[in-house]
Amino acid sequence: MQEGYSGGSFEASYARLGARLERKTRGWRCDSDMRGVNSEHLQEGGLRVDSHEVGEARIKEMTAGVAKYMRGERELYFRHSEALTAEWKAAIGGYFHQELLGNIRTVILQGARIPPPPFYTEAKKLSGGRFPDFVHMASITYLDVIVFHDEIKQRTLFHGLVHAAQMAFLGFERYVDLYVRGFAKNRSWLAIALEDQAYKLDARFANDPTRVFSVENEIKLWAEEGRFDS
Ligand SMILES: [Zn+2]
Repeated sequence: MQEGYSGGSFEASYARLGARLERKTRGWRCDSDMRGVNSEHLQEGGLRVDSHEVGEARIKEMTAGVAKYMRGERELYFRHSEALTAEWKAAIGGYFHQELLGNIRTVILQGARIPPPPFYTEAKKLSGGRFPDFVHMASITYLDVIVFHDEIKQRTLFHGLVHAAQMAFLGFERYVDLYVRGFAKNRSWLAIALEDQAYKLDARFANDPTRVFSVENEIKLWAEEGRFDS
């Protein structure tokens, strides 16, 4: 059911939420400096890494491609999505902004898998193989829609919600820009600061679910410290 949904409204809703969460983070730097790939990254993992720096023009193209892909998938899956259940909201509610949880949609794929994205081959080559096979991922967040393979697990949901909160806080365009720059710089999907934070926070949640913390505050802190630019 899509009651109350009109095309594009999630963007406005996210922008409002992001503006509220932003508070004092204006002025944090946008680091467009592209460092060369570290020599230790070369030829790791079997596939040869393209050691050339990714130029600014290519970064922009990649960013546009990833943004288009994510918006397209979001539209596709939204039609089949459901709101987060009251049980899930109760289980992870203390960690996230209530408005975010109210907006989030979920899809569980059973007997189907998320196909590789159009940039899969290039990303794999650029990182010497350190780019995930989407087919084997537990979930992927497409803006406000989290798509799960087979079932929703608590920690996977938490991870997906961290990405949704990052997008809400940073804005979708900025999120994709940081994601692509982080990947091009580090040549590893796991080394992207946005992923690093999501994994750190889902681990913190899993290690002690009784110690509630604000994910939005963590994102705000990382943004203030410029950690998403690394
Ligand atoms: Zn992730």
